[in-house]
Amino acid sequence: MKKIIVIGAGASGMLAAIAAARQGASVTILEGMEKPGKKLLITGSGRCNLTNLRQEPDCYRGADAAFIQGILQQFPVDKTLAFFREIGLLTCARDGYVYPATGQASSVLEVLLLELKRLGVKLKCTEKVTAITKKDRFLFCVQTSGWKYEADAVILSAGSRAASATGSDGSGYALAEGCGHTLVTPREALVPLKIREGWTRKLSGLRMQAAISLEGHTETGELQWTDTGISGIVVFQLSRYAVCALAAHTSFVPVQLDLLPAFSAGELLAHLSKLRDLQDGRSAENLLAGVLAKKAAAPLLQAAGISPLTKAEGLSDATLRRLVGEIKQLTLTVSGCRSFEQAQVCQGGVRHTEVHPQTLESLKMPGLYLTGELLDVDGACGGYNLQWAWASGFTAGRAAGQKFSSTRSALPDRHTGSPAVDADGFPVNRHQKGTYHA
Ligand SMILES: Cc1cc2nc3c(=O)[nH]c(=O)nc-3n(C[C@H](O)[C@H](O)[C@H](O)COP(=O)(O)OP(=O)(O)OC[C@H]3O[C@@H](n4cnc5c(N)ncnc54)[C@H](O)[C@@H]3O)c2cc1C
Repeated sequence: MKKIIVIGAGASGMLAAIAAARQGASVTILEGMEKPGKKLLITGSGRCNLTNLRQEPDCYRGADAAFIQGILQQFPVDKTLAFFREIGLLTCARDGYVYPATGQASSVLEVLLLELKRLGVKLKCTEKVTAITKKDRFLFCVQTSGWKYEADAVILSAGSRAASATGSDGSGYALAEGCGHTLVTPREALVPLKIREGWTRKLSGLRMQAAISLEGHTETGELQWTDTGISGIVVFQLSRYAVCALAAHTSFVPVQLDLLPAFSAGELLAHLSKLRDLQDGRSAENLLAGVLAKKAAAPLLQAAGISPLTKAEGLSDATLRRLVGEIKQLTLTVSGCRSFEQAQVCQGGVRHTEVHPQTLESLKMPGLYLTGELLDVDGACGGYNLQWAWASGFTAGRAAGQKFSSTRSALPDRHTGSPAVDADGFPVNRHQKGTYHA
């Protein structure tokens, strides 16, 4: 039986190991941390948004769409859900976002580990890989601080630089470069943004619905103000474009915020004018009492050049229009983003043109495969990054297993005699729509 080493027990590495072992290969995972799947455990705030029923090409960024779709089609969402169901995980979908029925990311990790164990995959933790070399044309040598492992194929699934406390410290990039690969510069994606205007710090801790536009892209959702700028899923979705723009050409990027997206500027102006015309002695700040959270009123008035204590009846139509503009079209300046540590994923990574588009086998070092976030693919927030990890892991694992295993009969298959398992050892009973719990 041929030996395959998987570097990294993250989402894509575990899927790769399972897919390779189902082809009958002898698989060992080398994981640098003391435990597997540390990042998986913190996904979706500990609930793990493991995929999304809505799959469109624009949910994935980085490498060209044809490459990404070619890999995703090998392990699409229905196959992903059927796979997880088969290994013991029930899932629920809310608005297309899929979570484990338990509501716990640990359940996803647990079923993956049980499947690895069932297939006889060896998992060695605290084994950080420091070099991948070739002993001869066919045999790899994978070096850790304490050991040298020989293998017929290596699957590099070491992740990116995002959230390095979970183990993905960027060493995967160095390993890939050591094998002859080049990188699209890795940068943060899905990350909080820093805002230059200091007065916005007064809003820190506040959450509100907002429509945010940046570099020609607009997103609507819950905005979170922080002590350095803005955050929340709505900001994560746009952050990649700000990071790219900052890297490419400028030291700041303008961002427009509509802090009351449910109402038009005309409606808001009419509402404020009506309250002003009551002439009941209320202050400018009181004018916003039922419009914005209390914490936001005074800073926004000041940004519009209005003292919060000014009598509302003294505000001219032009001043009210300025205030409406400040609420509906607030323009701020993005001056940077939080660090890789606060980023959920990285954009950039190993150039997709350096791997085979059907198998993810390296074109620089045959027998080496690359998966997951290490490649120059990133997804939007909403389960897309894990879907990429599952699909790329499956693709590489299956390809490596098929290429290096002549012992398909060794496949430990609890489905013996059942027609419900395909040639990859994966279930063919596709997930049926309508079986999710709301
Ligand atoms: C806070 C947070 C929340 C997220 N939530 C979601 C979500 O809900 N849905 C979603 O789709 N995506 C989410 N993501 C993104 C998703 O988790 C990643 O895209 C995905 O885990 C990437 O999988 P991977 O296998 O490429 O890398 P990782 O999961 O990062 O796995 C890489 C593994 O390789 C190991 N490793 C690294 N270097 C070495 C080495 N030299 N030797 C040995 N081992 C090594 C690491 O320790 C790690 O275990 C989230 C990310 C974060 C940080």
